[in-house]
Amino acid sequence: MSSASRRRLGEFGLIEKLFAPLATSRGAAGLRDDVAVLNLRPGQELVLKTDAIVEDRHFLRSDPPKAVAQKALRVNLSDLAAKGAEPLGYLLMLAIPRRISDAWLTAFAAGLRSDQRTFSLSLLGGDTTRTDGPLTIAVTALGTVSKGKAIRRAGAKPGDLVFVTGTIGDAGLGLELLERGKRTPSAAIQKYRVPQPRLGFGKLLHGIATASIDISDGLLADLGHVAETSRVSVVIDAAKVPLSKAVQTVWGTNDNAVLRAASAGDDYEIAFTCRPRDIARVEAAAFKSKTKVTLIGQVRRGQGLSLIGRNGKSLRFARAGFTHF
Ligand code: ADP
Ligand code: MG
Repeated sequence: MSSASRRRLGEFGLIEKLFAPLATSRGAAGLRDDVAVLNLRPGQELVLKTDAIVEDRHFLRSDPPKAVAQKALRVNLSDLAAKGAEPLGYLLMLAIPRRISDAWLTAFAAGLRSDQRTFSLSLLGGDTTRTDGPLTIAVTALGTVSKGKAIRRAGAKPGDLVFVTGTIGDAGLGLELLERGKRTPSAAIQKYRVPQPRLGFGKLLHGIATASIDISDGLLADLGHVAETSRVSVVIDAAKVPLSKAVQTVWGTNDNAVLRAASAGDDYEIAFTCRPRDIARVEAAAFKSKTKVTLIGQVRRGQGLSLIGRNGKSLRFARAGFTHF
C-alpha cells in the first residue's frame, strides 16, 4: 500500500467523516447502528424507489462530482414526484474504484448535502464497497403519500388527455454535445447532468392525474409503458411536443426533430393523463408550482403508443431508432 493510499479515509473514515453528518434524521442514529428506524405519520404510506447510476453509462467520468451526486439522488426523486409522493430520505450504496480520490468523494458528499437541503431529505444508511469495475452509485429513495393516493402508471382511460411538463430532448442534446467534446456548460448539458425532479408539481396531481410516469427512457418509451399498463392507446401529436429553443436550433422543428427528442432519455419530466373536465385544475397546478405544462395528446381505446406527424399520419419508430412510413 502506498503512503498516499494509507492516508485515505477508508470505509469507516468515509462513513464517519463524509456520510454520518448527512444522516440528519433521528432514526438514522448517526449511522452508528445497522439499520435506520422510521416513524410514519398515521394515514401515510411509504413509496420506495431504487435507481443506480453507472459511470460512462448514466454519467460521464468527466462530470463534476457534485453533479454526479445530484443526479444519483434526483433520478430517484423524479419517480417519487411522478407518483405524487413527498421525499423523506434515502439509502446510498457506493461501489468505488481505487482511482476515485478522497477529494472527489468529499465534493460528492457536498453535492448530497446541497440536495438534502433543497429537497428536505436525510441520508438513512447504505453500504460502501471497493470495485474493479466502474464507479456505481445506487440510491434508494423513500417518500410518503396519503394512503391509497399514489398515482400509478395504470389508470389512464379512453378520452383522457395527455400532458407533459417542461420541454423534451434537452438532456439528450446535452449528452450529444458532451460526446462531441463540448465542455462549455449550457442549459442542455446542465439538464443532462443535473435533472430537476418535478416534486412541487407532482404533489399537486392528486385527484387530477389518472396515470403518471417520469420520463427517464424517452417520452415515447415511457408513455408506451402507461399505454401498456393502463391497457389503452396513447396518441401523441408531434407538433405539440414542447421543444426548447436550444433543441429547435440544433435538431430543428420537423417531425424528425420531435422523434429524436421524444426518443432521447434523461428528461426527468412528468408525463400524465387526466380527464378533460380537469384541464383547469391542471392549469392551476402548473401556475401554482410555476411549471410549464403542455397538452400533447389523448388516450383512446386500443393499445400501444402512436406519434402523429405533421401530415396526420402515424410516424414509425423503434426503441433504438426510428423510420418514417
Ligand atoms: P454492515 O457491516 O452491517 O454492512 P456497515 O459497516 O457497512 O454495516 O455500515 C455501518 C453503517 O454505515 C450502517 O448504518 C450503514 O447504513 C452506514 N453506511 C455504510 N455505507 C454507507 C453509505 N455509502 N452511505 C450511507 N450510509 C452508509
Ligand atoms: Mg456493509
